[in-house]
Amino acid sequence: MSDLVATERVFPRPQTSAVNGDIRIDWTKALWLMFHGVAGCVGVFLYPQIDGLVVFIALMAITICAGHSVGMHRLLIHRSFRTHRWLEYVLVWLGTLVGMAGPSGMIRAHDLRDWHQRQTACPPHPSHGAGFWRDAWWQLCCVYRLHAPPRFVIESEVAEDPVYRWMDRTWMLQQIPLAALLYLLGGWAWVLWGCSLRVFVSLSGHWMVGHFAHRCGQQDWVVAGLPVQGYNLPGLGLITFGENWHGNHHAFPHSARLGIAPGQRDPGFVFINCLERLGLVWDVQGPDDQPRRGGLTRMDAPTSSASRAPFSAPTSGA
Ligand SMILES: [Zn+2]
Ligand SMILES: [Zn+2]
Repeated sequence: MSDLVATERVFPRPQTSAVNGDIRIDWTKALWLMFHGVAGCVGVFLYPQIDGLVVFIALMAITICAGHSVGMHRLLIHRSFRTHRWLEYVLVWLGTLVGMAGPSGMIRAHDLRDWHQRQTACPPHPSHGAGFWRDAWWQLCCVYRLHAPPRFVIESEVAEDPVYRWMDRTWMLQQIPLAALLYLLGGWAWVLWGCSLRVFVSLSGHWMVGHFAHRCGQQDWVVAGLPVQGYNLPGLGLITFGENWHGNHHAFPHSARLGIAPGQRDPGFVFINCLERLGLVWDVQGPDDQPRRGGLTRMDAPTSSASRAPFSAPTSGA
């Protein structure tokens, strides 16, 4: 029998192994990234104009904050607050516009990585264990395939929802209506800055935050017994919209609030707060609204740079 733990959507089978797998190139992923990287660079060199930069920054903020961080991560994946179905669709659609995957693809990528990181041994791909360039290649252009994968089940409210199924089938094509609108308003300059450069920077930035947030940074919390820990990356709150507080996220994955200590800026949570005041979201979960993870320990003197720090003794479960 397998001694692997199950998570909310991932269930090991008796034959499942979390460590026997291959890293293979994913041509769709690699060509999609390269296409937007080249087109984004062409945009910057052919149209070095301030309005292009403004469009890029504005669309980055909307798609990463409201879409990726709040819609995909805190709402669809973790259900850390509740909202109207129509608003959930809007937020998740904005997250699809980031250009990483559709709703089910995002849940799968997040939850399988999370499942791997909760086992006693985690291979270097899902743990971000390789060095900078190799990890970039693995995460941005390759896929990790287990020989005997676990069963992966997405809840029927998402898996069978016609709107989410449509977003899953068409997630790449979702750039087209936005590109058409940008073309009408600002020509090719706005298309290249607002779609291609944005997608390339979003994908690269997402990987980079994941890379450092599992290797080094400030460690406020330890989950004892796990091979992979999350680290906070102070100073990046405003440009990651709060996703830099990844050590807090490992400690309190159910929490809508990622920046939990004074001074930890979390624009995504500010946005959720605004929606709550407008009566559009409710049941917003904080760090203490659910039982603590077993083995979670507060570091008395947070380390400012860590490399797989020694684990504290496990506390009692729950
Ligand atoms: Zn998460
Ligand atoms: Zn993590």
